[in-house]
Amino acid sequence: MRIPLIAGNWKMYKTVGEATTLVRDLLAGLGELSDREAIVCPPFTALAAVAALVADSPLGLGAQNLYPEAQGAFTGEVSPPMLVDIGCRYVIIGHSERRQYFGESDAFVNRKLRAALAHGLRPIVCVGESKPQRDAGQAEPIVTAQVRAALLEVPPAQMANVVIAYEPIWAIGTGDTATPADAQAMHAAIRATLAELYGAEIAATVRIQYGGSVKPDNIDELMAQPDIDGALVGGASLQAASFLRIIHYQ
Ligand code: PEP
Repeated sequence: MRIPLIAGNWKMYKTVGEATTLVRDLLAGLGELSDREAIVCPPFTALAAVAALVADSPLGLGAQNLYPEAQGAFTGEVSPPMLVDIGCRYVIIGHSERRQYFGESDAFVNRKLRAALAHGLRPIVCVGESKPQRDAGQAEPIVTAQVRAALLEVPPAQMANVVIAYEPIWAIGTGDTATPADAQAMHAAIRATLAELYGAEIAATVRIQYGGSVKPDNIDELMAQPDIDGALVGGASLQAASFLRIIHYQ
């Protein structure tokens, strides 16, 4: 009942020319996607070129960020209607790199998430604990508190459009993946929190992705876990062969 979502987060990589090559290679190897969804999230500068290539294809499009106002004097920022206009369906919100390097608070993440929903975008909201927090046994309370804060004042009717990405910070870009069992335990804790907030029926419909050094050689085992409904993939989404293998997980 939850359609798995594999998303590629290109971060600050790929010129327009490089993005075009990558998407052409992805489309050449993608085939039909009947039981899963796949999207790419290029940098803003490549969105238009990628949107033109993926139109009418099984590959979807997302952005990596937004500013939570429709328009205005916010130099350097990009609004939800601009993303919708260019063809984005999804937007990544609250990635740990934005929380860490750009000072994004839980409250700002919540504002962004509600702005995305208000404009018909599907937010992929990232949560995750640091290594010291995990070592101190605090992973679950930290992450479930992030989930609650991100979803403040989000009505139940909107939850079908929300995707949560559990991304332990210590696993992002490090080659150090959570074991499938540890990831499953965190996903189950997140789903239990959703059940407390919205009831079991709605909680069962929300997709929870895992992110953090997802690679061709660990995706199958991760996706075999009952509460892992997809992956948010950084490094391994930058080459067609590795991202295609992840999309085509077994
Ligand atoms: C990410 O960018 O969200 C991510 C999980 O990166 P990586 O797959 O490179 O760890």
